[in-house]
This record gives sequence, C-alpha cells and structure tokens, in this order.
Amino acid sequence: AAPRVAVIGGGFGGAACARALRRLDAKLQVTLIEPNKTFTACPFSNEVIAGLRELPAQQFGYDKIAADGIAVVAQGATKVDAQARRIALSDGATLSYDRLVLAPGIDMGFDALPGYDEAAAEKMPHAWKAGAQTMLLRRQLEAMDDGGLVVIAVPAAPLRCPPAPYERASLIAHYLKANKPKSKILVLDAKDNYSQQKLFEKAWTELYPGMIERIALSQGGRVTSVNPATNEIVNDCGNYTAAVANVIPPQRAGRIAEIAGAADHTGWCPIDPVTFASKLVPNIHAIGDAAIAGGIPKSASAAAAQGRACAAAIVNALTGKAPETPRLDGACYNMVAPGYAFSLKGIYQPKEDQYAEAEVTTSPVDAPREVRQREADQALDWFKTITGDAFG
Ligand code: FAD
Repeated sequence: AAPRVAVIGGGFGGAACARALRRLDAKLQVTLIEPNKTFTACPFSNEVIAGLRELPAQQFGYDKIAADGIAVVAQGATKVDAQARRIALSDGATLSYDRLVLAPGIDMGFDALPGYDEAAAEKMPHAWKAGAQTMLLRRQLEAMDDGGLVVIAVPAAPLRCPPAPYERASLIAHYLKANKPKSKILVLDAKDNYSQQKLFEKAWTELYPGMIERIALSQGGRVTSVNPATNEIVNDCGNYTAAVANVIPPQRAGRIAEIAGAADHTGWCPIDPVTFASKLVPNIHAIGDAAIAGGIPKSASAAAAQGRACAAAIVNALTGKAPETPRLDGACYNMVAPGYAFSLKGIYQPKEDQYAEAEVTTSPVDAPREVRQREADQALDWFKTITGDAFG
C-alpha cells in the first residue's frame, strides 16, 4: 500500500509540507489534520490591529489543498501513540500513519507569567494567534480615551516572530498619532537587544517622536506579573496601569507536541536539522514554530521552507535515498507605517547539528524613503506569494 503521511496543523508549515509531499510523490496518502475550517494568518495582523486592514484579508480556506488530493480532516489531534503510530482525533476517530509531521505552531505559556491565564487573555489580549484576539486588541484601542497608556509586554526569546512586537508598537503608534495623539506606548521588554533594532529606533524617532518608550531587560523591563482585574502590569522596576494591555506571554510548541512526547523540557521540539526528525520519538518530524531550529527566526517563511525540506526528507527516506542537506530561505518584512517597511533576508543551513545563518541581509539603516516604499510593496507581494503557495 502507499505510505501514509499525516500532518498535524494546517498553518504555514503544515500546509507547505502537505502540498510538497503530494507534489514530490503523487502516490503518497497525505492527510492534513486541522480543526479550523479557516486559517487566520498572523503576518499583517498588526495592520488589522491598527485599522489599516480587515481580518478577512488574513483568512484562507483548505479547499485548494483538498483539491490537490490531500485528505483534509477538520478535527483537532488529541493524542499521538508513537509506538502504535496512531493519532486520536477530537471526534473519537483514530488515524494510522507511517510518518507524522507535527506543525502545531505555538501555545501560550499560561503558567509562565503569574496572573496571566486564558481568562486574563480576554482582558489583556496577547493577539499572538490571529483572529478573535487580533480584533479584541483593535476594539480596545478604538475604545480607549485620548491620552491613554498602551503597554506591550514582550517575553524573552524564543518567541514567534521576534521583530513583530516592535512592528506592532510602530503601527499602534501610527493609529494613535492620527486618532488619539496624546496617548503613549510603553514596551516592557524581557530582552536587551532585538532584531532590526536600529531600523525600528530610527523609524520611531522619525515618525513617532516621543510616543514610544521601551524599557529593556537590564533597565528592569521584564514583566513579572499582571492583574487583569485592574490592568496592572508589574515589572522588575515598578508597576503600570494600562488603558490597553497587550500581554505577549512566553510561548512553547503547540500542546500536541508535548502530548506526542516530541517536546523537551524547554517546551519546544528538538530535531535533526537535516531531516526534521524528532530526536525524542521515532517516525515523527517537527517543523515551523514548534521546532528548535537554531538561528532561524520563528516565522511563516521559515515554517514554509522547513515544510518543503521536511517533505523532501520524508520522500527520500521512504524511497531509500540519502537525505539532502537543506538550504532554507526566510524573509521577514516589518511595516512601521503604510508605505514604510524594512526587511531581513536570510539563508540557513545545518551546522554542528543545528541551523546557522549562512547569509543574512538587512535593509540599510540610512536608506531613503523610496527604498522603504519599495520594501512595503515587496512585503505585500511576499504575503500574496506565501499565502498563495500555502492555500491558493
Ligand atoms: P501556524 O501557522 O500557527 O499553524 C499551526 C496550525 O496548527 C494552526 O492552524 C493550528 O490550528 C494547528 N494546530 C495546533 N494544534 C493542533 C492539533 N492538536 N491538531 C490539529 N491542528 C492543530 N512571519 C513572517 O514570516 N512574516 C511576518 O511578517 C510575520 N508577522 C507576524 C506578526 C505577528 C503579530 C505574529 C504573531 C506572527 C508573525 N509571523 C510572521 C510569524 C508566523 O505567523 C509564524 O511563524 C507562522 O505562522 C508559523 O507557522 P507554523 O506552521 O509553525 O504555525
């Protein structure tokens, strides 16, 4: 019989992997397990928060993936029995596999920040998974009085999309400057340095002078507890009462990775970088945000590149071919205002059992506005391409 490959999670990594598997070997029986009928993309969700874009522009269905001959199962995976190679689904059904790819993205570490749990997220949205959380944060900003304090709490690494908190601060500043100009944004950060910091700082001085303040880790920026009843945020140097609190908690691989035994004590999945095979459980691979992939930032483009490389590794393994060394590319655009973006583009390869940067290019700090405009156009093209490849 044709080998059965199951993919858990129909986000950027899982969709890319399922499609690549079918493309590389049309005989494979590929099943994509994903509970949501509609996927809501995080890239460009900061624009939605700032009122520059509507949520439906972020949403994609699975019809085209099903039309490729992939069995799309609209259920959550609740258990994985790695020995029996069997998955249990939320409707009680089970599904057997020869190989399993875990691509569940992230879950919030609701026990990692005192005071912050699922109920608190309804008051102090993280908006780190797109959809209802994105709209909740937007509505809170719309309802806020002019002069309000918006606090963004940023966790330590590793986190999904490391530059996105600063992109968010920028775009919220854009909204406030036009609508509530007496308001301020305070970024409480559990890190000292962050990706593309010089570019963000220059843009903030140029576009939003005096609006965004950031307290870094060594200045006491790390948030230690929150109180959703009062919107209070306590950090190493004091406490703040926010009009709007965007609390991004520490994260870990989606829960099913832990249930499958593929996540280690860090909460993330250790993998062999050449094949994405789990180091902890046999016949299971892990990709995307859930995987520990060294120097590769957790991003949609990295997840999709990993999905394609993992598909190739699985097809090679099933046909008895030697694995090829992947060369993954990732592009990350940051939009700080409409028509003003910058980027980081990287190529990553396995080195000493981990991924390392082979080449990285960042936009120059002193580029003229035409370059920023061009990068903003390229960012939109990038979004069309990555969502088209995954769902179109
Ligand atoms: P996801 O895309 O999250 O997909 C995981 C899927 O698994 C989900 O659909 C989920 O429903 C499903 N799932 C989970 N558990 C189960 C289960 N038990 N059973 C079945 N299915 C399950 N990246 C960029 O490249 N560029 C950007 O500009 C960018 N901007 C961002 C802005 C923000 C505000 C945020 C938060 C993120 C941004 N990212 C960006 C990061 C990007 O969204 C993630 O890195 C990417 O989505 C990771 O892909 P993934 O496939 O690992 O996970």
